[in-house]
Amino acid sequence: LHSELTYARIANRAVRCFAPRTAVIDGGYSATYEQHFSRVASLIAELEERGIRRYGVLAYNGHEFLELWHAALCGPGTIAPLNFRLAAHELRQIISDSGMDALLVDSSWRQLGAEAAEGTGVPLVDIREICGTVVRDGTDGTAAGEPKGSPVRFDEPPEDGIAALMYTGGTTGTPKAAVLSNRAMVLNLHHMDRLLDTGPDMRFLLHSPMFHGGPVYGVMNPLGAGGSVVLIPKFDVDDFGDALLTTGANATQMGPTMLRMLLNRYSDDLTPLRCLRTLLYGTAPITRGLVEEVLEKLPDLRLNNGYGMTEATSALTILTHHQHVADGLKRVDSVGRPFPGVDIRIVGLDGRECAADQVGEIQVRAGNLMDEYWNRPELTEKAFDGGWYHSGDLGFLDDEGFLYVVDRLGDMIISGGENVYSAEVENVLSRHPAVSQVAVIGRADETWGERVHAVIVLHPGVVATPEELDSFCRPHLAGYKIPRSWQFRDEPLPVSGVMKINKRALKEESSLDVEA
Ligand code: ATP
Repeated sequence: LHSELTYARIANRAVRCFAPRTAVIDGGYSATYEQHFSRVASLIAELEERGIRRYGVLAYNGHEFLELWHAALCGPGTIAPLNFRLAAHELRQIISDSGMDALLVDSSWRQLGAEAAEGTGVPLVDIREICGTVVRDGTDGTAAGEPKGSPVRFDEPPEDGIAALMYTGGTTGTPKAAVLSNRAMVLNLHHMDRLLDTGPDMRFLLHSPMFHGGPVYGVMNPLGAGGSVVLIPKFDVDDFGDALLTTGANATQMGPTMLRMLLNRYSDDLTPLRCLRTLLYGTAPITRGLVEEVLEKLPDLRLNNGYGMTEATSALTILTHHQHVADGLKRVDSVGRPFPGVDIRIVGLDGRECAADQVGEIQVRAGNLMDEYWNRPELTEKAFDGGWYHSGDLGFLDDEGFLYVVDRLGDMIISGGENVYSAEVENVLSRHPAVSQVAVIGRADETWGERVHAVIVLHPGVVATPEELDSFCRPHLAGYKIPRSWQFRDEPLPVSGVMKINKRALKEESSLDVEA
């Protein structure tokens, strides 16, 4: 089974089938399949020669970062892409924990990298130098590596090889690394390809930071299928429209916060967003209001909701566009059905498996799950207790096997003994026309244990009072779910590296308020 499931084989086939087609576009740089994978082959040789097997990468998105990802997928190395939003001391902890041979940095993050690596003995290497953009062809704009007589062919990576160490912990705590095998990553690719319209026409815009599990689809799938990957350094709402218009990108992936920002920014002229044909969204609960707005404004867009986590190499389930529009958005709150081969069960607090429609923890068995948490046997044991991966998410399956994620276990509020799912309350409030962003969190309360607290960002120039928002919620929510305290913020809600609302930061802010 293993040799059938290596990215090396997928790349070998892609080079053979699509050699002259464009594989990668990055600003003024572009590379064909032949050129891109020749560079990857040279990079694998270069890394080997320097004795670099396990490497950290601290960089914005760019073709070199993609090459480093593909070098780990097609060769014997392991990539540990790092979150540049972390502080130097947090990164230092990761550098030591991973046992990396070198830290590869781009010019933007050289300083941070140097601070982080200080005292660790881990050398800092410039990614341009190791990937050889300038050195190899003497120009800065075009790809190196003229097509050669015989096509590139990658050897099989070792059977027990680890493709990536993905450090998670953006939203909920101390960084820990999911150990992702080549097999898990390729299984994920097969799952996604089966249900998304990945093909030679796809031009995928990769803007989410490549240190996160979400963009793994963009890193792996489009090139497996003859499409191309367009890289921009990072998500910037003002540049996004131009990036779509100038590169002809027609597919991308993003979370609800980014989607909201784009609809606001391009509300006067949606032309750039109309370039998109396929959108894979996920990473956090989306509200019905936002999906309805997207479908109304961009009716030709094929919307797919993917649910997963870093520990599952990205996705476990998908709600395809077809399932979205069929039945008049009846399943808009669902994250879809598990991929074939993914087994999901829902387990109640009493440890028993729940019946259809009953809420409990989402637990998973799947080939695309991580092998373990790096160096954390006790965490691994806890995460896989009873042979199933414990997702830490609450949800239910309906009687047709569609999964609904209702909240994260840690975000659920227990108020007066009643469970309140923060996502449900957010969903209602987000439909109020004055509300631009909302996060609902629990706040310590003497009477109720926890009380429901709403943090609201209003659209510019609009006013809404707590009384008005309270009345808006009444017809849709039971009394105990309605926020008992309200906080209006002028600045946007804090977000993680992939622009997920950072409730941990909000809870910390909120507890400081209480103490003050
Ligand atoms: P942490 O390590 O603290 O979990 P993170 O939130 O950035 O950090 P991820 O692995 O990216 O880590 O997040 C996975 C979580 O995101 C899931 O467990 C789930 O709570 C949420 N999520 C992912 N996709 C969806 C989706 N389509 N709908 C709702 N929630 C989602």
